[in-house]
Amino acid sequence: MGWKYLFSQTVLQRGRQYQNRGAVRNLVKNGDVYKARVWGRALYSVAIRIHEDGYVQSMTCNCPFAHDGNNCKHMAAVLFEIGKNNADAINGEKNRVYPFRSPENRNEDYYYFDLGRMTSRLVFYDSKVKEARKMVEDGKITLQKVDIRYTHDYRLDGLIGTAEGLVEQNGRTVKAEVVFGKGEIYYARCMVQGCYNIFDASKYSPGLDGLCVHETALLFFAGRVSEAE
Ligand SMILES: [Zn+2]
Ligand SMILES: [Zn+2]
Repeated sequence: MGWKYLFSQTVLQRGRQYQNRGAVRNLVKNGDVYKARVWGRALYSVAIRIHEDGYVQSMTCNCPFAHDGNNCKHMAAVLFEIGKNNADAINGEKNRVYPFRSPENRNEDYYYFDLGRMTSRLVFYDSKVKEARKMVEDGKITLQKVDIRYTHDYRLDGLIGTAEGLVEQNGRTVKAEVVFGKGEIYYARCMVQGCYNIFDASKYSPGLDGLCVHETALLFFAGRVSEAE
């Protein structure tokens, strides 16, 4: 199944043991979110959002291990439990794509913002990338401005860019933005109704699908800008 790469081998095994011994309780599905309680050292609450295409979009658990930014055994146990009766529900790995590549043999200073490197920690899926591309082509999202400046924040690296886009929704426009640095996407925020996605690199669990379709679309503009310069 397509979600196991989200966990280390050890965590995966513990999750399997938990699920086998019936530690997963009260599994309920509400829309695309699964919620359950898992008995470990204490009773933990797990919530997992699974996209209709079958990939894991986000996971939370209130255990200390997950609090430190890891994907924990309680999450794995819940995924095993979901998969028990409905293996196809979570099998999105085959649709994973790599839409942003680093330019080959290019001068690093010239291509300061390398989208391939910036997005290397993120996961993208075919359906969302296609939808994002179509939004750009159809003019459903437009680039408002790209602002590049020096940051004096010692945690960040040199230049920092903000791409601001406008998304058409019910006859009005709403904002989405992506903040990026040389090697990383730091932050993204989408104000589209029903989306309200916030991506924060410092809280991101590796392997998850962090950006919404609008934020992904903004990256296509960023790619164009860096190619044009
Ligand atoms: Zn946990
Ligand atoms: Zn969005």
